[in-house]
Amino acid sequence: NETVYPFGGGAPHVDARQKDKTVTGGKGANLAEMAAIGLPVPPGFTITTEECVRYLAEGGAFPESLRASVDKALAHIEKAVGKRFGDAADPLLVSVRSGARVSMPGMMDTVLNLGLNDATVEGLATVSGDERFAWDSYRRFIQMYSDVVLGLDHGLFEEALEIAKEDRGYFADTEMAAEDWRELVARYRAIVDQELGAPFPQDVTEQLWGAIRAVFDSWDSDRAKVYRRLNDIPADWGTAVNVQAMVFGNMGDTSATGVAFTRDPATGERAYFGEWLVNAQGEDVVAGIRTPQYLTRAAREAAGARPLSMEEAMPEAYGELARVFDLLESHYRDMQDIEFTVERGKLWMLQTRSGKRTAKAALKMAVDMTGEGLIDERTAILRVDPMALDQLLHPTLDPAAARDVLTTGLPASPGAASGRIVLDADTAENWVARGEKVILVRVETSPEDIHGMHAAQGILTARGGMTSHAAVVARGMGRCCVSGASAVSIDLSARTLRIAGRDMAEGDILTLDGSTGQVMAGEVATIEPELVGDFGTLMEWADRHRIMKVRTNAETPADCRMARQFGAEGIGLCRTEHMFFDAGRISAVRQMILAEDEAGRRRALALLLPEQRADFAEIFRVMAGLPCTIRLLDPPLHEFLPRTEAEFAELAEVTGYGVDHLRRRAEELHEFNPMLGHRGCRLGITYPEIYEMQARAIYEAACDVADEGGAAPVPEIMVPLVATRRELAILRALIDRVAEAVFAERGQRLEYLVGTMIELPRAALMAGDIAHEARFFSFGTNDLTQTALGVSRDDAGRFLSQYVEQGIFPRDPFVSLDVDGVGELVRIAAERGRGSVPGLKLGICGEHGGDPASIAFCQEVGLDYVSASPYRVPIARLAAAQAAL
Ligand code: ADP
Ligand code: MG
Ligand code: MG
Repeated sequence: NETVYPFGGGAPHVDARQKDKTVTGGKGANLAEMAAIGLPVPPGFTITTEECVRYLAEGGAFPESLRASVDKALAHIEKAVGKRFGDAADPLLVSVRSGARVSMPGMMDTVLNLGLNDATVEGLATVSGDERFAWDSYRRFIQMYSDVVLGLDHGLFEEALEIAKEDRGYFADTEMAAEDWRELVARYRAIVDQELGAPFPQDVTEQLWGAIRAVFDSWDSDRAKVYRRLNDIPADWGTAVNVQAMVFGNMGDTSATGVAFTRDPATGERAYFGEWLVNAQGEDVVAGIRTPQYLTRAAREAAGARPLSMEEAMPEAYGELARVFDLLESHYRDMQDIEFTVERGKLWMLQTRSGKRTAKAALKMAVDMTGEGLIDERTAILRVDPMALDQLLHPTLDPAAARDVLTTGLPASPGAASGRIVLDADTAENWVARGEKVILVRVETSPEDIHGMHAAQGILTARGGMTSHAAVVARGMGRCCVSGASAVSIDLSARTLRIAGRDMAEGDILTLDGSTGQVMAGEVATIEPELVGDFGTLMEWADRHRIMKVRTNAETPADCRMARQFGAEGIGLCRTEHMFFDAGRISAVRQMILAEDEAGRRRALALLLPEQRADFAEIFRVMAGLPCTIRLLDPPLHEFLPRTEAEFAELAEVTGYGVDHLRRRAEELHEFNPMLGHRGCRLGITYPEIYEMQARAIYEAACDVADEGGAAPVPEIMVPLVATRRELAILRALIDRVAEAVFAERGQRLEYLVGTMIELPRAALMAGDIAHEARFFSFGTNDLTQTALGVSRDDAGRFLSQYVEQGIFPRDPFVSLDVDGVGELVRIAAERGRGSVPGLKLGICGEHGGDPASIAFCQEVGLDYVSASPYRVPIARLAAAQAAL
């Protein structure tokens, strides 16, 4: 297998392996593919990700054969360009770029203008006839290489540049003349000498290998690790290295560089969207050093900006770019995010990839592209990330609420957020850990800020455009973001800021509207989202293709109502104990728990019966004939015990017992390991009157609602924490008895099912046996995960993140089902249960019912439905459709 692949410049044909992102990385694969469809791509070569993995496994030694392959590929570039690497008269310069399988914005470092040294810079000046350009390139190279490869602080170089400008009375970099850059290079060289104790490397081959090494090493940098962890990217993928002939956007006014999207990544609108800068190179556009210009005339006019758009300033290159956009969209059949450079009027393509987009844009583009015939309905369903819908399912700012608008920046990533101002990423993380909501405010963000951006509700930056680091990362994460709010000035040392003349401090509350760019003081009221338009269309398509039903985990009428609006087809888990905590009832619950005997318990339960009946009736009304799985009391009783003095005193009052007596009873209920203690069906076995009351409340409510004339409720009564068939047999008999009693009293019969949760390994293994007593199984994968792994969810925080970091668990098993282990128990239980009772109804009611990867597994095992919290219902609908395709 090849380890180095040439592309562009008449390289031999591109084979399947070279187009495979797992081999050549996203950037390398797409550069090769663009070259193959005839687009102008500067020639280069890609070192495979496999070589990176090998290099890291060898502890940082280059594989034996790599040097020869690189030499050969470099010769390919030299031949295509007609220049030689290191040639003092007419040097070939290259960029060294990383590129993993998926794009990891800002995680990997690129070095431009490599191949410059004291000799070649003179050659470049002569050949280009532009001395200023040559020295500008050289200073850029020294700074980048020193930062990325030599590990020196880039601040030192930035400071030297600032001083150089100040000394000369300049304001912008563009004022620096050739001689100024030359002097700055000397200063840079001195900085390197001083910091490194060695001169800046003059040997171009040494430069090249240093850069390749830096790219490989960056795969294991801290910030790459953080990004991988947040995005579930395996540590063993590695990154490819792309070495590519330089083209120059900094060769004067007929040269430029830019980034663009073939459609608007925020709204999904079918309009070219991008930013560019004349006489600039590479990262200038995204780094926020100069304010970028609009790509199209329409966008410039809409923004009322003055500097000419590319469409106006460089009509020919722009025309070429527009042609490329259309070619790319019809080739990749998706919105593309591209990087380009214009060198003396000629357009060059430097990158393309499927563009990151907001959920709103993803929906719009999926629906539009289906309409345009670019993709089909199935592709449209598969194209939208179910988790991204989360962005649309949360509240937006109430248009009617008063807004104290401080300033307006760029609407970089939509959504609304309120929170306390924090001025750095670590503070963001710390404050969030203690339960605050925060807005991260920075001059601009960099990869070092990722963890803070993740913790924050929203991000506000003073500088940077719509394609700045902050904007791109925020859109990817689904955080709302306002960028380029130039009226924001920050005093980091005083921990204060000024927004358009208003003084504020860290900790003050700010609201951002990422859809309009507004920045507001204080908190602004929000409204619930409406699931119409493209959202509704895609959901309709998803519903057509999915096989599993989607229910919700809900126990309040409000949640049930919301879940139905989101498309829930029933309740998969109604936790009755949540109703016990209500202020008006907890006293009766406590009386029941602390009662000395059955008679005492029955007296207290009689107080609870009408309350529970009313709860269930309301839920049945909202669910209007849809199935409702109601779980009987599950948690250990001590969770309801009084804790404070006042609570004991109050209870003493109503029961007539002394506080001491109550305290003793409470102590008797203490358990060493409540998770495995007196809970679940064990409560029903020992205190049958509790389950009796609950069953009665359910049936009476069902009869009441049926009497009202609407659709008859369909209760599915679920017994928790069953381990043996006998437990379920006893409790089922009790529940059936209550049913018969109520139906006799009411003179009517209703459909109902009695079933069990499968949440203990023994229950999974004995499912064939247990199924004889059950009309349905619902996998309680939260507890099944706890009991199968022997990991308590409440105590896992101490070690779980390390377990994920070290790859022991690929993901948090409480978030995404451990398919191999816990999943095996589910599979066994499903097979054995249906082996005994063909067609046994199967569902899942753990947290995993809202996790797309777990949903795919549920489909594979053949569950009838998944159940998720209300906000996750649309996510589950889409994920279930994707699982079925
Ligand atoms: P990232 O993955 O961070 O975007 P890239 O490898 O794409 O890093 O490089 C960053 C920028 O450098 C690109 O936007 C592009 O403009 C510029 N660049 C990279 N290679 C070249 C090249 N061969 N010629 C000119 N500019 C380049
Ligand atoms: Mg970058
Ligand atoms: Mg790039």
